[in-house]
Amino acid sequence: MSDVRNVIIIGSGPAGYTAAVYAARADLNPLVFEGSVTAGGALMNTTEVENFPGFPDGIMGPELMDNFRKQAERFGAELVADDVVEVDLTRTPKVVKTATETHLAKTVIVATGSGYRELGLPNEKRLSGRGVSWCATCDGFFFRDQDIVVVGGGDTAMEEATFLSRFARTVTVIHRRSELRASKIMQDRAFANEKIRFLWDSQVVDVVGDTRVSGIKVSNVVTGEQTELAVGGMFVAIGHDPRSELFKGQLKLDDEGYIKVDGQSTRTNLDGVFACGDVVDHTYRQAITAAGTGCAAAIDAERWLADSA
Ligand code: FAD
Repeated sequence: MSDVRNVIIIGSGPAGYTAAVYAARADLNPLVFEGSVTAGGALMNTTEVENFPGFPDGIMGPELMDNFRKQAERFGAELVADDVVEVDLTRTPKVVKTATETHLAKTVIVATGSGYRELGLPNEKRLSGRGVSWCATCDGFFFRDQDIVVVGGGDTAMEEATFLSRFARTVTVIHRRSELRASKIMQDRAFANEKIRFLWDSQVVDVVGDTRVSGIKVSNVVTGEQTELAVGGMFVAIGHDPRSELFKGQLKLDDEGYIKVDGQSTRTNLDGVFACGDVVDHTYRQAITAAGTGCAAAIDAERWLADSA
């Protein structure tokens, strides 16, 4: 059992590391659990990041996260590449366990992010950041004048397709049913867009390409017929899963599993527990917004500690 820390941060994406920079610079000596496999968060799976301010020529995702990490370390954050497997956030002090150790803290910042749902295709991961993307806002710009596809039939898929039509020559929405799940207004907008086409009753069965996506294989779920489409990109828009499982029954979650926070703050329903980044955020899901709320969480934790001293 450890001494009682001021702050334990769970998660190592832009939100967790930014919280660590701020908490360390406030002399709170934070302990950060980065995760054992995915330290650095979602941007470790991408190539070029062009929209993080401060890098006019863009920066590779892993390099950006390495910079975040070094900055947190420089101010004395203690970083541990391990998974938190159990918590009791209802107790004082709060209990945070890895497979081998138990740690105690006055405050906990949850920054565990959310996972984009994948199609589960053999070449999807390999070509991630090389034509396969989960984020139109992040990557749409790279697909100027190309033919691309969006996989999905909900609001997110329609939103992504509509946004991508600004850049792409054509956007084909591939949906495994014969009608969309998206709200009527989103559907109408997509149907009215002359760059957007629809491939119904179809599912992607493989992504083709050596170093970049050059096409996809599609199967018709009714006839079983397989075709190959020559496209430069595939956007997967079938949803996200916030990593909040660990906190179920302790932190209030919304219907989709995102951690609920109080208004514009990062305060959760439990005193001394704060949440930030994509595990809270339905809407923006960007590195800069995750970093922004990571900063807010550290400031909220610091003020909470000052008030309860
Ligand atoms: P994450 O980055 O998801 O980090 C959370 C991390 O917490 C996990 O990876 C893991 O290391 C750790 N963790 C989780 N559970 C535990 C646990 N139990 N114990 C210990 N550690 C744990 N955004 C942009 O702004 N620009 C882009 O160009 C861009 N491109 C993207 C490309 C891809 C392929 C993807 C997937 C996302 C992209 N995004 C981009 C979105 C951006 O990456 C996310 O919005 C951002 O990373 C969210 O930050 P976060 O800190 O909330 O969570």
